[in-house]
Amino acid sequence: MTELAQLKEELVTANRILAHHHVVDSFGHISVRHPTNPNHFLMSRARAPGVVVEDDIMEFTLDGKIIGAEPGKPYSERFIHGAILEARPDQMAVVHNHSPNVVPFTVTGRKMRPIMHMCAPIGGDIPNWDISTKFGNDTNLLVTNMEMGRDLAKTLGPRTVSLMRGHGSVVVGRSIREVVFTSIYMEANAEMLIKALQLGGGEVHYLHDGEIAANTKGRAGFTWERGWENWCREVDRKYVAQTWDMGPGFSKTDPAG
Ligand SMILES: [Zn+2]
Repeated sequence: MTELAQLKEELVTANRILAHHHVVDSFGHISVRHPTNPNHFLMSRARAPGVVVEDDIMEFTLDGKIIGAEPGKPYSERFIHGAILEARPDQMAVVHNHSPNVVPFTVTGRKMRPIMHMCAPIGGDIPNWDISTKFGNDTNLLVTNMEMGRDLAKTLGPRTVSLMRGHGSVVVGRSIREVVFTSIYMEANAEMLIKALQLGGGEVHYLHDGEIAANTKGRAGFTWERGWENWCREVDRKYVAQTWDMGPGFSKTDPAG
């Protein structure tokens, strides 16, 4: 199987996993940078992630133009993905979601921050992009052109996550498996944080910056593989062990706990 075919298969699996974990529902999407052309990316046609198949995967330029086969209408918010991949050459994959437990943090002053070690990859500094700041109070909140996408990418900056006021969030990763991992644990963190706030009993004890760093620096292939294998089973998709080199800072032996 070619690298492109393998990546498309993995992208379909990622769509199914994100839907199964309620990170996306009928809406929301995931993209991955093209394996041989860094100026293109792959993403499904506009379809609910839970039903995406290989033939739905389309190729785009970073500014959202369709390349090759057009099995259907593209996502109107594909500019989120292109603009972030353009601004972040270090990242390979992007998830945009309306993750239900995350949205409350986009419309209140309560900060989203990790409270549990598995959720550390979301980072301790999560901005909240507000479309109305630059584009006024009468948009439908959708990111439907490159100007909006680039403005969002600017707010994201070098971070892993940016919230989107009244809408959802974006998450980036150095691989499909990493971005899926971070997206699932961001939704989990949001749900647990809401529960912690409801318990009362004083201020929530968030992870310290050093704890976030210690949990993300060494975390690597082994942890993602452990999650990915289990999640493939949950959605009845074939698990393929990731054997390719993931670059510096990646280890296959770190303990996940
Ligand atoms: Zn959206």
